[in-house]
Amino acid sequence: AAQEGFDPEQVNEGLDAAGHGPLPVLAVVGRPNVGKSTLVNRILGRREAVVEDRPGVTRDRVTYEANWSGRRFKVVDTGGWEQDVLGIDASVAAQAEFAIEAADAVVFVVDAKVGATDTDEAVVKLLRRAGKPVVLCANKVDGPYGEADAATLWSLGLGEPHPVSALHGRGTGDLLDAVLEALPEAPEQTFAVPLGGPRRVALLGRPNVGKSSLLNKVAGEERVVVDSVAGTTRDPVDELIELGGKTWKFVDTAGIRRRVHLTEGADFYASLRTAAALEKAEVAVVLIDVSESLAEQDTRIVSMAVEAGRAVVIAYNKWDLLDEERRYYLEREIEQDLAQVAWAPRVNISAHTGRHVEKLVPAIETALAGWETRVPTGRLNAFLGELVAGHPHPIRGGKQPRILFGTQAGTRPPRFVLFASGFLEAGYRRFVERRLREEFGFPGTPVQISVRVRE
Ligand code: GDP
Ligand code: GDP
Repeated sequence: AAQEGFDPEQVNEGLDAAGHGPLPVLAVVGRPNVGKSTLVNRILGRREAVVEDRPGVTRDRVTYEANWSGRRFKVVDTGGWEQDVLGIDASVAAQAEFAIEAADAVVFVVDAKVGATDTDEAVVKLLRRAGKPVVLCANKVDGPYGEADAATLWSLGLGEPHPVSALHGRGTGDLLDAVLEALPEAPEQTFAVPLGGPRRVALLGRPNVGKSSLLNKVAGEERVVVDSVAGTTRDPVDELIELGGKTWKFVDTAGIRRRVHLTEGADFYASLRTAAALEKAEVAVVLIDVSESLAEQDTRIVSMAVEAGRAVVIAYNKWDLLDEERRYYLEREIEQDLAQVAWAPRVNISAHTGRHVEKLVPAIETALAGWETRVPTGRLNAFLGELVAGHPHPIRGGKQPRILFGTQAGTRPPRFVLFASGFLEAGYRRFVERRLREEFGFPGTPVQISVRVRE
């Protein structure tokens, strides 16, 4: 009776349309202080211009979802770049490079009051070489009198300068219209995997955990096919590597091989790289260096993978360096700091000696299988019925919210929608997730549960 009038197909379509498909990516680049952050906030529709003083500050979130005229896309905020560490020119160049790799289109912001500087000209060269669509934003045109300043930016050779005041909103509508024209309907990296096509793997981890060593280990022994990007003469972005009898696409290997040698404060660049690789990957292999204590950066990368909804494998690397004592503490640290991903397959490897590297493939396959698991609606509801009968939600304010029924709205990762008669507390949701995992498995994958309250 609970399912009366309920059409799982309808729910599924609604949810997919509501936002789990791939979205085109827009990067906003430009020199410091030209108004990138202000513009990003404007695009996101945030009222307040969040312009913080944040030298060396690490932010784990660099992409945001935006919506203009009913079209959704992602905006990459490069505003918090480490100028102090990189130097202005290097930081702006790195931004542009990032945009080239990760974005489907770029908004290049220039301060119209200042005009085009040498740094701006250098970035233009990089952007031109990349061949990605560029929309030129002539910012700080706060009134009609600034339009002449904007017009001088035709000289950059990027086409029409769009006069904008990011601060006051002037001209941002026209700019966004141009952005929509520049963005492809669907991103280049479509998420759908052709049957039999190579699965996409991202090797992640903070600097020095052993990513390039592992890449060399697996690529060195096996056939490597370079998957170069059309129209560019840059390093290969992805590599096809044969492992365990199958071909895998290791994404963003350029970012691993072409090591950015930064000492301090490289976190932000690393975060960008991680976010970009996650965009493209289906499964993340997160490397942890067991010879050192787990760092906040390790758990942050794991969280990024989980939040991106990717399958996750954790590779504990440098196992050859482990002694008894360190091992004792390592296990404690894992229990404490990585409890959130206790479901992720674990491999203890040494990229250096090759120890257990062959176990990576089965672990990745397990995680991908969990990621693609689909539970039939009938089985799910039989399970939910028993769960609710055996462990009802606690009574709150004289009422007892009940799960009426549920459906799996999607896979990769598994997403469930539960319809309930009232608000379900976080604790109860976690309980449901735990029981779902016990019942149906889902190794190596985040599980997303949303609740809709039916009056
Ligand atoms: P970013 O370093 O490129 O991210 O630049 P911010 O967004 O932090 O802006 C730098 C400064 O320029 C801040 O003081 C902003 O308030 C100011 N600014 C940004 N956009 C405009 C604008 O359209 N007009 C004016 N007058 N100032 C702006
Ligand atoms: P990346 O920054 O994550 O790409 O790390 P690298 O692959 O450059 O490795 C950083 C350092 O750790 C290098 O000196 C490697 O030789 C060393 N290393 C990587 N993997 C292992 C390992 O399994 N055992 C040992 N002993 N050293 C390793």
